[in-house]
Amino acid sequence: MIARETIDRILDAVRIDEVVGDFVQLKKRGTNLLGLCPFHNEKTPSFNVNPVRNIYKCFGCGKGGDAVNFVMEHEHYSYPEALRYLAKRYNIEIEETAPDPQEAQLRDERESLYILNSYAQRVFSEQLFEDEEGRAIGMSYFRERGFTEDTIKTFQLGFSRSDWSAFAERAVKEGYKEEYLEKTGLCIRKDNGKLFDRFRGRVMFPIHNLSGRVIGFGGRVLKKDDKTAKYLNSPESEIYHKSKSLYGIYFAKKAIVQLDNCYLVEGYTDVISLHQAGIENVVASSGTSLTSEQIRLIGRYTKNITVLYDGDAAGIKASLRGIDLILEEGLNVKVVLFPDGDDPDSYTRKHGSSSTVDFIEANAKDFVLFKTGLLLDDVKNDPVRKAGLIRDVVETIGHIPDPILRSTYTKQCSALLDIQENILVSELNKIRRNQLKKETGTPEIDELLTVTIAPPQTPADDLSTEAQEQHIIRLLVQYGDELIEFKENTEDPERPGHFLEQKYHVSVSRFIVEEIAHDGIEFEHPVYNRLLRLYVESAKANPDASPDVDRLIQESDASVREVLVELLSPRYTLSDNWAIMHQIEVPLEENLLRQQVEQSVYHLKNKKVMRLLEESRQRLKEAHTNGEDFTALLERHQHLERVKQEISRILGIDVLR
Ligand SMILES: [Zn+2]
Repeated sequence: MIARETIDRILDAVRIDEVVGDFVQLKKRGTNLLGLCPFHNEKTPSFNVNPVRNIYKCFGCGKGGDAVNFVMEHEHYSYPEALRYLAKRYNIEIEETAPDPQEAQLRDERESLYILNSYAQRVFSEQLFEDEEGRAIGMSYFRERGFTEDTIKTFQLGFSRSDWSAFAERAVKEGYKEEYLEKTGLCIRKDNGKLFDRFRGRVMFPIHNLSGRVIGFGGRVLKKDDKTAKYLNSPESEIYHKSKSLYGIYFAKKAIVQLDNCYLVEGYTDVISLHQAGIENVVASSGTSLTSEQIRLIGRYTKNITVLYDGDAAGIKASLRGIDLILEEGLNVKVVLFPDGDDPDSYTRKHGSSSTVDFIEANAKDFVLFKTGLLLDDVKNDPVRKAGLIRDVVETIGHIPDPILRSTYTKQCSALLDIQENILVSELNKIRRNQLKKETGTPEIDELLTVTIAPPQTPADDLSTEAQEQHIIRLLVQYGDELIEFKENTEDPERPGHFLEQKYHVSVSRFIVEEIAHDGIEFEHPVYNRLLRLYVESAKANPDASPDVDRLIQESDASVREVLVELLSPRYTLSDNWAIMHQIEVPLEENLLRQQVEQSVYHLKNKKVMRLLEESRQRLKEAHTNGEDFTALLERHQHLERVKQEISRILGIDVLR
């Protein structure tokens, strides 16, 4: 058990902005900090950190709490695990009450695997520095690569002995369970039941998770031997998932946030060399080709990835696909090609660290253009192969989620490839359509194009646009200065996580003007539109006040005056009109005005949206032949659909889709 005093010291020391800042890129917003929520997928930040109260809160998914909660949630830690992590983060020594010799056994399995890996790391490091074999083979290899003792210690590098079961025997003798030796993959059980070591005669690279704990190992064999793989990694376990791990992320995350860029390299030694050279924002995918999960992990810290390649052309072409994945996740990719077969590691050793930084900065190329240029070199003037190249390049552009960026690339590539832009666009539309179909797994896209959705039927929708506009003007003229009440839930500043119902009042004219005018809606009826504009103008001076109707009547021309007089006549009353509009019982008097105002505005908007949707459907159908960007149109269409659904929700219309 962790002593109460230690817990208090930890809680006193932690600063929420620092703890969260290790994982999330935060930007200052007033006294608070704002970032992209690590707990749900979002594009606009709603994750709020309050350094004064030492708490965080996501207004998107609702998660919130203090630093301990954050670490528990983010790292999937138990309460004591989170405290241990924070103690380490703030250099606080943990005092345990009643140290329990059985504790190692009692902790859960994950914790046991962590503990065993940490033990293995210490053994391997000790063997590197102290064993004859370790010094002769392992240490001389690291020295040859120019790694300093500091670097070796930072990355906790080590050496595994070449005997069959040196590690297994030692670990068992020191009380570690065979079960966990197997589960971490450090050892393998033979058919005769004996344990032997997975890693033998290898230099060892521990793989750390985000919080710096060892989750697995990579081992490189140094002897020339055809039978064994040059690199060997720990197998998947409870704590090590290859597709979600990045080598070096623990050492890189701070620099990635600060520099807003992440270098992606191929080998463990590239990571270490660059880090030693002072280039710390660097990671490698460990033991797999790049996965979407790894890219999303980087995406928590930055939207910019620079891939550093060694100059081996075959290797580059093999990895081009992986880079499409980065684009698909909406990140920006640049590539740097090292010259003459050098990798980042060897280049840094030859030329020194500052020239490596210069080289990267001078040679970082935009990926799409890099790929186009690279393939173009291959194709030369062979027309058949050029057609294949165009499809390939367009496929890559198709992975980019941002339509504006896509269109920029289409322009640039059309120049590079010397091909008309509309040919690329039409090819792009074909590919996007297939990609979207694959991604959503439904034929929805085609349905959108062919199925006309029946508009929701309500009596108010049967009213002509003119009648709707007239109704809104009448509400403005008769009730412009009346206040209507709205309720809103806002977070209690005194008690985070608790919500208060707040009432606020808005004048009828302000509500209508803001809803109608700010959406850029113009009335079709010319006189109604002139009246609407008078209210919009007046709202600019004082949003809650409306023009004096008597003066309007005196000062306006005949057509406006006629309308005003008509609308002010007593034959229009709220309840009469309510019955006409909705054919239902008249509700309570105090609710009536607000509902009338809201409904009249939203029914009008509903009609406008339905019309826009119909136009949009038509444009989608013709996008292919007109050479328009299909995806941009589709995104707009989907936006309109969402607006329609929101309006329907407010109006209480059931949408049967
Ligand atoms: Zn969230």
